[in-house]
Amino acid sequence: YLAGKLKCEAALVTAGASSGLTLGTAACLTVANRCDIRAIPQEVMREKNEVVVQKAHRYGYDQALIACGAKMIEVETLEQYDRAFTDKTVMAHFFNAADGGQIGREDWIAVAHKHGVPCFNDAAADMPPISNLWNYTQMGFDLVTFSGGKGIRGPQNAGLLLGKRELIEAAARNNNPYDGVARGQKVAKEQIVGMVAAIDWLLEQSDESMEKEFRDRA
Ligand SMILES: *Cc1c(COP(=O)(O)O)cnc(C)c1O
Repeated sequence: YLAGKLKCEAALVTAGASSGLTLGTAACLTVANRCDIRAIPQEVMREKNEVVVQKAHRYGYDQALIACGAKMIEVETLEQYDRAFTDKTVMAHFFNAADGGQIGREDWIAVAHKHGVPCFNDAAADMPPISNLWNYTQMGFDLVTFSGGKGIRGPQNAGLLLGKRELIEAAARNNNPYDGVARGQKVAKEQIVGMVAAIDWLLEQSDESMEKEFRDRA
């Protein structure tokens, strides 16, 4: 239902954007290593576990990726980025609201896809505009996460992971009720219903009506 509303292949309600980062990374590790979920984090550290990221996109939420056994590989130039891909690369990570970084979204996606590697965009706080809920998946990002309790104004302990079906299915396998790295990031039925209600509400709003409300409140 959410994937249909948000114009992407598949969608998962998570326990927040940080959980979305962990589940998305676990999904990329699972698919790249063709491994059991129990191989995360320890066994994948001896196999494929490299995540390429711009130096200016490093942030506190990296911990959500590193918890899966991911090794962060920093790049600055487009040429360094192209050369950073190895047979151990599982994911390219992008921080949508980063202040710095020379490499833009389209180049970031194109180079990753040239190497057959999925691209993740953390857009946790980047709604409004409402269209951002589909702009980044339609641009080509394989995974995009949003916080449920920021601009979307859904449950504070929920979030969205949107993207390609194979990766969303792998993300779900790493979550409760299975005994993977994110078993502790359980999503209750109340959060799922809450996110659906929030998206239904949001899609009846407009960027203009929301901005007016924000200004009135301020
Ligand atoms: C807020 C935020 C997160 C974490 O979101 P939660 O829903 O609180 O887990 C992750 N990444 C970015 C960029 C954020 O702004």
